[in-house]
Amino acid sequence: MPAKSDKSKLKADEVVVKGLGVSSGIIVGKPYVLHSSNLKVIEYRLEDDHAVEDEIERFHQALQITREQLYHVIQEAKAKYGKEYSTILESHFLILEDEEMIRGTLKMVKNNHVNAESALAAVMDKFRNNFLKSNNEYLRERATDIDDVKRRILANLLGQHKTFTVDEPSVIIADTIKPSDIAGIERSKILGFVCESGSTLSHFAIVARSLNIPAVVGIANFTGFVADHDTLLVDGHTGEVIINPAPGTIERYSKKTREIQRQAAELEPVAQLPCTTKDGREIQLSANVELAEEVANALKLGAKGIGLYRTEYMLFSERELPDEETQYQEYLKIARKISPHKLTMRTFDVGGDKIPLEILTTRGYVHEDNPMLGWRAIRIALECPEFFVPQIRAMLRLSAEFQVEIMIPMVISVSEVVQAKALIDKCKNELRKEKIPFNEKIKVGIMIETPGAALSADVLAEEVDFFSIGTNDLVQYTLAADRGNPKVAQLYNCFHPAVLQLIHKTISAAQKNHIHAAMCGEMAGNPYATIFLLGLGLNEFSVLPPVLPKIKKLIRETDIKEAEALAKRILNMTDIKEIEKLVTEVTKKKLAS
Ligand code: PEP
Ligand code: MG
Repeated sequence: MPAKSDKSKLKADEVVVKGLGVSSGIIVGKPYVLHSSNLKVIEYRLEDDHAVEDEIERFHQALQITREQLYHVIQEAKAKYGKEYSTILESHFLILEDEEMIRGTLKMVKNNHVNAESALAAVMDKFRNNFLKSNNEYLRERATDIDDVKRRILANLLGQHKTFTVDEPSVIIADTIKPSDIAGIERSKILGFVCESGSTLSHFAIVARSLNIPAVVGIANFTGFVADHDTLLVDGHTGEVIINPAPGTIERYSKKTREIQRQAAELEPVAQLPCTTKDGREIQLSANVELAEEVANALKLGAKGIGLYRTEYMLFSERELPDEETQYQEYLKIARKISPHKLTMRTFDVGGDKIPLEILTTRGYVHEDNPMLGWRAIRIALECPEFFVPQIRAMLRLSAEFQVEIMIPMVISVSEVVQAKALIDKCKNELRKEKIPFNEKIKVGIMIETPGAALSADVLAEEVDFFSIGTNDLVQYTLAADRGNPKVAQLYNCFHPAVLQLIHKTISAAQKNHIHAAMCGEMAGNPYATIFLLGLGLNEFSVLPPVLPKIKKLIRETDIKEAEALAKRILNMTDIKEIEKLVTEVTKKKLAS
C-alpha cells in the first residue's frame, strides 16, 4: 500500500490495489470505515433516555471485559517476564478503576447524549494532556499508560457495537470483520466489503457470498489509506480495488458485470429441474443460510431444503442469550419460509472465531491463546446447559409443525454425542410433561468437522441419524492451517489427500450404518469437487445459494458409475496438483456440455 500521507493525491488519479477476491461481483461506492487498526472514534448522538441507559450498560460491560483481559495479560506477563514488568501493568488497573475517569465518562454520556467511545476518548485525552503538561518526568511518562488503557477499553467498546450508523449504501471497510459486525448493519446499506485481514473461509466472507455482496480481503493498511470522499470500485472476482476509478474504468467494469450476469442467467433454467444424476439417482440439494432473508433467494435458485442453518448468527446482535420463546419466534420465521422442505438447524456454534464475547464472558469465558482449539460449540453446550436447553426446546417445539432436524457442531467423541442426546431426551421429557407437542422422531445428527470425528465415524454413525461434513473446519484441523489466515491460505486445500481420505471414511461409515451423509462445508459448493463427492456416495450437498444452479447442472450431467471411477482414481493419488488438474479437466468438460 502507498503511505498514508499519499491520501491527498488520490483524488486526481485512480489507484489500483490488489487483494484476494472472496465474494464475486463488482460494485462502485463510497467507503464506510467500520473500524480500523487505528480505532477511529466516531461521535454519534443517543436518541433518548433508553438509549442512554443502554450506553451506560455497554460502557460498564466494556470495563468488565477490559478488567478480565488486563488480569490475564498481567498473569501472562508475570510468568514470561517476571514481577517487575507486571507491576507496570498493574498500574493500568489503577487507571482503569479511576473514579474520575469513570464518573466523567458517564456524566458526558448522560448529559450530552453521546456514545461511550467519544465520551471516554474526550475524558481520557483531557487527563493525558494534563499529565503531558507536568514538569515531573514520571507523570509525563504516565500519559502513555493512559493511552494504553484507553485503547484497551475502546477496543472492547468498538467490538461490542450493537448497531452501526451506516446511513448510505456503502463499501464497508475494516481491519477485521466479525459476524457480529454484519449483524449490526442493514443489508441494504452494504454494497461491498474490503477487509485488511481474512480469507475465503472467514465467516463474513461466507455471509458475503451467501448474500451476493462483493468482498475483497488481504489489503494491508487499507483503512488508514482511504478517505471518506474517495470512491471505490470493488471487483470480488479478481480481488482488485480501484480507488477513484476513471469514467473509462467504470465503463469497462460495467461491461464485465453484464457478461457475468448473462452467464448466471444461462444457468437459471436449471434451478427448477429435478436434482438427479444422469442415471436417475436422486440427490438432495439444499442451502446454507444464516438469516431468514436468504431463504427466498435459495428457493428461487432451486434449494429443496436448508442443510445448514447457522443459528449462532442470531446471537451476534444480542448482549444476552435470547430465551426459549424469542428463539422459537426467530426460528419460526425461517421454518415458515422453507416449509414444506426440511430445515437442518445447527445448535449454537459459538466460541472459536465466532465469539459473541459479551454472552460468553458472563459464563466464564476468559481469553484463550488458541480459541480455534478452545471452548466452543458442543463444549460450551455441555458445560452450560442454559445455553443448550432453551435452544433444544425451541427446536423441538418447532418440529411439531415443521420438518426440523437438530445438528450438533464440533463433535470429537462418542461421549459428547451421548451427553448431548441425554440432554435432548431430558428436554423431550419436560415437553411431554408440559403437554407441548413435538416430533418424537426428530432426527439428530452431527457435523463431522474434526479429524477426531472423521476417524471415529464408524462408532459415531451408530449414535446419530445423519452426518454433515463441515469441510471448512475439517480442512483447517487436518492440515493445521487456520481457515482465516491469508499467510497459510496456500496450504489450506480441500483436495489434500488426507482430507479426501477422511471424507471417504465418513461417507463409508454412514453407508455401512444406513444413515444420511451430507456435506455443508464450502467444498460441497466447489464445482471441482462435485463429481468426486458423488462418486463417494454423498447424499446431500448443502451450498451457498448463488452456486446452487451450477452444482445441480454438474449433478445432472454425471453418471454415478463414472463418478465412482473418478473417486476411486483420486483416492489413489498422492499429489494435490495432479488431483486438481484432473478434477478441473473433468468438471470443465461437463460444464461446457
Ligand atoms: C464447516 O466447518 O465446514 C461449517 C460448515 O461450519 P462453519 O463454517 O460455520 O464453521
Ligand atoms: Mg465449522
